[in-house]
Amino acid sequence: MLTIDGSTGEGGGQILRTSLSLAMVTGQPVRIEHIRAKRPKPGLMRQHLACVLAAQAVSGAQVSGAELGSQTLVFEPGALRPGEHTFAIGSAGSCLLVLQTVLPALMLADAPSQLKLSGGTHNPLAPNFHFIERAFLPQLARLGVKVEATLRRHGFYPAGGGEMVATIEPAVGGLRPVDLLERGAVGEAFAESLVAAVPRRVAERELALLKDALGWSDEQLRVPNVRQNEGPGNALIATLGFEHVTEVFTSFGEKSLSSEQVAKRLLRQMKEYAASTAAAGPYLADQLALPWALAVHQTGRAAAYTCSEVTEHTRTNLEVIQRFLPLRADLKREDARRWRLSWEPMG
Ligand code: ATP
Repeated sequence: MLTIDGSTGEGGGQILRTSLSLAMVTGQPVRIEHIRAKRPKPGLMRQHLACVLAAQAVSGAQVSGAELGSQTLVFEPGALRPGEHTFAIGSAGSCLLVLQTVLPALMLADAPSQLKLSGGTHNPLAPNFHFIERAFLPQLARLGVKVEATLRRHGFYPAGGGEMVATIEPAVGGLRPVDLLERGAVGEAFAESLVAAVPRRVAERELALLKDALGWSDEQLRVPNVRQNEGPGNALIATLGFEHVTEVFTSFGEKSLSSEQVAKRLLRQMKEYAASTAAAGPYLADQLALPWALAVHQTGRAAAYTCSEVTEHTRTNLEVIQRFLPLRADLKREDARRWRLSWEPMG
């Protein structure tokens, strides 16, 4: 049994999720100790427990310690169970973090799957539906995995109540390692302000601020139709398309924040990305680590991507992946705002 110390590095829930994903992929039983030790409320919160239960359902695992507040979990995966699964995460727990946990195993399974998820689809501190659909899944497609995600109903934090479906077609003939080094030619760029049970003028104000700062056309500044009973919620989302990558940056409206502050938070993220030539921003870099590693592990061929930043969260994720897979993460700083992460097989 592999023992993972959940207090290392960033010491948060990602250590748990990546460990569950890799236990399912490799069949390796794992004991995770000191779960989320560096968080104010350590142990499994509802969100993390939802990930454990989803991982158990998909892999028929024997599990002990799957309780709220638990700081130790033993997870012994069985045979994978691709097919139809429904995960009701409850309140606004993130659907996307549950998907992130079970997707690595299901994308390598020998049959397709369909997941119905309900909970939060647009949560702060988690990938939101639009980020996964536009930024993350197209990169999985380059590795050979087809995942189609459909948003049925928005679920904003804290009310939740969102619904989404993901259909997963595993890679025929295994994953293909690819490099993602450059963004390529500039494509479509646009911003959307989602408002549900929040006055439309909030969206208009946020977009007007983006227009002033970026000089974008009205056509690039959108207020999509969102059913008002899916709120309350406000998300300001920028989508930047390039030939080889699409990046999605999000800033959430909160009661205590002005429209100016929401727009400024988004502009800060966009500015940082614009100041770099790397393909992936900080969150995409974090989330590509595992699929890239799996493609290299399956084929024994190295693959790399560039990113604008390597967060503590990403570094911790790399450590966990290297505990499970015989790979080396080679991180090189190419300039002040560009890193290259190359996964290489050992030996
Ligand atoms: P906790 O222990 O409190 O649960 P954590 O370590 O599980 O924290 P976070 O650091 O909050 O989790 O990150 C969760 C995931 O959400 C990571 O995969 C991260 O890349 C992703 N993420 C966070 N914010 C964004 C964002 N704005 N856009 C896209 N992805 C994001």
